[in-house]
This record gives sequence, structure tokens and C-alpha cells, in this order.
Amino acid sequence: MKIIADMHTHTLVSGHAYCTLQENLRAAKEQGLLYMAATEHGPAMPGGPHLYYFGNVRVWPREFGGVRLIKGVEANVMNIDGELDLPQRYLQRLEYVAVGLHDECFSPGTQEENTQAIIAAIQNPYVDAIVHPGNPRFPINFLQVLLAAAQAGVLVEINNSSLVGSRKGSPERCREIAELAAKHDIAVVLGSDAHWSGQVGHLEQALAMATEAGIPTRNILNLDAKRIEDFLAEQQQKRKRIATY
Ligand SMILES: [Zn+2]
Ligand SMILES: [Zn+2]
Repeated sequence: MKIIADMHTHTLVSGHAYCTLQENLRAAKEQGLLYMAATEHGPAMPGGPHLYYFGNVRVWPREFGGVRLIKGVEANVMNIDGELDLPQRYLQRLEYVAVGLHDECFSPGTQEENTQAIIAAIQNPYVDAIVHPGNPRFPINFLQVLLAAAQAGVLVEINNSSLVGSRKGSPERCREIAELAAKHDIAVVLGSDAHWSGQVGHLEQALAMATEAGIPTRNILNLDAKRIEDFLAEQQQKRKRIATY
């Protein structure tokens, strides 16, 4: 079982990460990856990029050193209506829109409120994945969120950094999510959440958790080029359908 994609990485553009896009891509190549999604924080994150950053991603190469560069974002869910900090005209330029709750942009509410916010964001047809859903700062109803994600074709992330020190208290909760995903046949995506190039492609703990929970490899995006290509193509089709409304 070989990991060929890291779907969650940051560069210094995010404001609290420390390497460049080229450094991350070189690290991805060294790790043997074929795909890397660059998912900077959305503009509401203190120190995050201006909207224009997302407006100009067309200048990126499709591939760098043999690594397919996926145009992504880790957008912020801003309120219980699930609004994001990127307007539609920017979302539609991207290939992979991951969303999550962050302290700087969303005040933790009750479990019901947090769940409502995430499920509302899942209904946004541009959204492709929800990140670090096991974060204990934002308790959510895991089963409700997972079922809503599956129904909308949105992936649920198992975040490697949550398993190696970030977001204290996450591992047990992530295990619960992984077990529910296995039980209900729900697709997951693994992300390193690298804020340093040396972390790119390091998904070992997340992969171990997914497989130990019993998630079949066909439901783990990061292991198969065809599955990744199919997923990206489906999401692009979804975007095109919206654009023609
Ligand atoms: Zn995050
Ligand atoms: Zn992140």
C-alpha cells in the first residue's frame, strides 16, 4: 500500500508555515508522491493570503518535477450557516476545496452548532473535503457529519498532524471517526497538514489508523492515481454544472 498523494499542505503563504511551494513540491517528489494539493488557509486566517492569491493560481504549472500540483485551499467555515471565507468566483478556480473550523475564524459553539456549521458547508457544491473533524475544540456529531459528507460526495479527512501532536486530544476522536467511516463505507482522504516541507507526504499514522479501523483501500483517496483523477474530474463536473446555472 503506497501513498501517492498528500492532499493537505501549507507554504509560507499561510502565514504560520515556513517553506515555499517549490520546496514542498521537491519534498513531495523525494517522498515518491505523484500528487500534492497546496491548500493554503483562507484569507480570514490571520497572516493568511489575500483573495488575489487564489485569483491567480492559473499561473501554476500543472506538474512540477513529476508531481501533479493540485490547486487547493483550506477555507474557513465562518458561521453556522456554513459560509466560507472565499467567494464563489475564487472557489471555481480551484480543484480541491477543503474546509474546516479554526479558532481564529469561528467561535466554538455547542456540538449542535458546530455540526450545523460543518453540514451547511458540506452542502456548498464547491466543497470537496472536511479537514480535521476530530478537533476537540469543535465537538461535532461524527455520524451526522460523516453521513452528510458521504451523501454530498465530500471526503472526510484523517489528519496526520492531529495524530502526532497538533490539536491535543484528537487521536481518540479520529479513531472513532475512522471506525464510523469503516462501518458506513465512507470515503476518507489523508492529509499531512504540513507546515514545513519535511512533513510533506508523511501520512504514516493516518494510514495506519485508517487501515486498523478497517477502512478498505478503495475508500482511501491517497493510494491510487485513477481514484484521484476520477475524484478531481467528478468535482470539476460538479463545478461546471453550477457555473451553468
Ligand atoms: Zn486547519
Ligand atoms: Zn491545514
